[in-house]
Amino acid sequence: MSRVEVRGLFILASILLGAGGAMIWARGGDAPNVARPPLLEALERLQAGRFVDLTHPFGPGVPHWKGLPDMEVETLYGHAPGEGSMGSGFFIQRYSLAGNWGTHVDSPAHFVKGLRTVDQIEVREMVLPLVVLDVHEAVRRDPDYVPTMDDVRAWEERHGAIPAGSFVALRTDWSKRWPDADAFRNLDADGVPHTPGWSLEVLKCLYEVRKVTASGHETIDTDPGSATSKGDYALEAYVLGRNAYQIELLTNLDRTPEFGAVVVSAFPKLVGGSGFPARVFAIAP
Ligand SMILES: [Zn+2]
Repeated sequence: MSRVEVRGLFILASILLGAGGAMIWARGGDAPNVARPPLLEALERLQAGRFVDLTHPFGPGVPHWKGLPDMEVETLYGHAPGEGSMGSGFFIQRYSLAGNWGTHVDSPAHFVKGLRTVDQIEVREMVLPLVVLDVHEAVRRDPDYVPTMDDVRAWEERHGAIPAGSFVALRTDWSKRWPDADAFRNLDADGVPHTPGWSLEVLKCLYEVRKVTASGHETIDTDPGSATSKGDYALEAYVLGRNAYQIELLTNLDRTPEFGAVVVSAFPKLVGGSGFPARVFAIAP
């Protein structure tokens, strides 16, 4: 038997043994009983959870901050001849949009020069315990409502202290107005917006006492319309001034529990970026 033939036999035997082994393993027969790595067990538990997309679909014309131009889409290359401005045979679009568009991340540098840009936010900060501060009933009665320490205390009576390192989302159900830009702005007859927002006392408690990592809301702005209509964005400056990121224009917070879910906030690593559309979802028990 030549060396080549010996090697061929060896390869054939390996394949047969490998296939036999795989069949035994597939049948759950004689596979060795090895403990699975703990992270994979944790992943299996996560995958058995309920996935809730906290992201609005976006494109041109969606509700946005009043000072921004609309998003534009150009097809550079289309599948069929004539469909693209530069050619055809495949599909490539160019998007022109303000970074802070749709459900999006605001980097700290969005408000404070020298603080972190989008690419400098650590991936570790993108997977966090989700705390939902639910004030939607109060907002239904009063669209100018902002959360009070009573709301925080009520949450903590039910679930204990808000954990350090959490992502706290303010549930107002304002997202149900999407994609109606006028309903989102909610201007009165005098052109004054009536929209909910955060409050400084609650944000200070969350960031300075409870040491949360990030926060988010369903409205376009951190500050209520009563403040933004006067050019007052002090609450957004406060959050971003902590070198924390925030997510704006969240949705589906009514489908997540107040506590016990995990939130993932992912966004592209744009060098020097002010903000960017984000994909945010919760995994609920
Ligand atoms: Zn923003």
